[in-house]
Amino acid sequence: MSQDRIIILNDFKKTKCPFCGVEIKSSEQVSLKNRGAKTFSSVDIYLEQHEILSKCSACRSYFKQNIINPNQLEMLYIQGNSTGAWSHSNFATEKGSEIVIEIEACVGKDLKVLDIGCNSGELLDFCKKLGAITYGIELSEEAKLFCTKKGHQMIENLQGFEKTFDVICAFDLLEHINEPSDFLESLSKSLKNEGKLIILTGNPNSFSARVCGIKWWYFSYPEHIVFPSKKYFDLLTNYKIEKNVSVYNSRDYKYPIFKLIKSLVSNILFKRKYNGVPSIFPDHQLVVLKRKP
Ligand SMILES: [Zn+2]
Repeated sequence: MSQDRIIILNDFKKTKCPFCGVEIKSSEQVSLKNRGAKTFSSVDIYLEQHEILSKCSACRSYFKQNIINPNQLEMLYIQGNSTGAWSHSNFATEKGSEIVIEIEACVGKDLKVLDIGCNSGELLDFCKKLGAITYGIELSEEAKLFCTKKGHQMIENLQGFEKTFDVICAFDLLEHINEPSDFLESLSKSLKNEGKLIILTGNPNSFSARVCGIKWWYFSYPEHIVFPSKKYFDLLTNYKIEKNVSVYNSRDYKYPIFKLIKSLVSNILFKRKYNGVPSIFPDHQLVVLKRKP
């Protein structure tokens, strides 16, 4: 057990679906029964209550109740540091090939690209190689410094960046956002007319997620609090969908049986903190949205 472990009262609840705004019905909630220490963005935490998984009957998205208070969430991200784990990774060789191809299609010379939640900047490194002018937003102080050293412009927020970017990327991010609809709307204002927003997030309607139910590995991370359906993206009023495809997040997952065995063995040997079932089919969605002018 880490000495840094923090005990957190996770009692924050929503009254409406964070995606479509419909009122929550109690009958659609199920306890995740996930007691025990968990790693939250490199900080060890202990949640006092079970998280609750809720499904919206209107837009078919999922979200958690009994989450960490949003202010405390932000503090945990600021303290966190994942750069050690990721600093040697390479976007082009580690992300799924569909994802890399999509970035190559959307990003080009002198285009302004912003990566939100850029962590240690592998996506920005790749865009820079394609000739783009690269910007990042990141809460972790260590990650910010790391990206600045690599020549990416780090910005604090989107104020003063109206209609600025040709492409905004939010990879492995939306699932961490407490109010995802407000977030997507704020991004649309910073896109140029016809600019693109590219999102990579888990797909709660994927075959893997449906088979695993509440045991889907993706639900077990305390950082993951919202899970948008495909239908939700269809309902957006300020964007039109160019693409929504099922993908593996990482190339590792191209060997699903190997991955499954490796994961089960490591769970047994090392008593891992995530007890969910890993995916054996694509369980992420790559969504390309175009701003409506
Ligand atoms: Zn909804």
